[in-house]
Amino acid sequence: MSRRFVLLDRDGTINVHRHHLSRVEHMELLPGAASGLRTLRGLGLGLVVITNQSVIGRGILDEAGLAAINRRLADLLAAEGVALDGIYHCPHTPDEGCACRKPGTALAERAAAQHGFEPGAGYMIGDSVCDIEMGARLGATTILVRTGLGAGYPGPDIAPVRPDHVVDDLAGAARLIARLEAARTPETHARSLTA
Ligand SMILES: [Mg+2]
Ligand SMILES: [Zn+2]
Repeated sequence: MSRRFVLLDRDGTINVHRHHLSRVEHMELLPGAASGLRTLRGLGLGLVVITNQSVIGRGILDEAGLAAINRRLADLLAAEGVALDGIYHCPHTPDEGCACRKPGTALAERAAAQHGFEPGAGYMIGDSVCDIEMGARLGATTILVRTGLGAGYPGPDIAPVRPDHVVDDLAGAARLIARLEAARTPETHARSLTA
């Protein structure tokens, strides 16, 4: 049985939401993010970040600049004892009509192919409509966090979306997933515990 994965949004889910985040010093973990990711790791789940970064397509940031910001994220998490399996980004603007910008599923499918997992068997955690919509298209269990753009849920910006679950933050998402994983069939659960 292949390893199970959690797909995660970056901005507003793991780190503090900033409009067009383009400076390394603005990469700041949300409270509970590192501990939540540690919990998910402890459940034996893989962790892949799927992020829309139109800052590149808009010319605000180049690929090297984004790589430095993602390195900073990895460093902050490493200091808390957590590692991600990968960060996949869409560099395009909404106008470009690409397949990789969320809610498009191309990045998740690429991650699934590279890491060998079934995205529909896992979870998608995010703070915005596009995250929940992408997770739904994949058949994943969708979890909206009330941080970042999700802070106002169910306010006017995010009301149209229907996540499977709504939680306060990434730590809450991890506690929820721990309960959901424990509730899976005993045989499956036993296998995941010994994997
Ligand atoms: Mg977000
Ligand atoms: Zn794209």
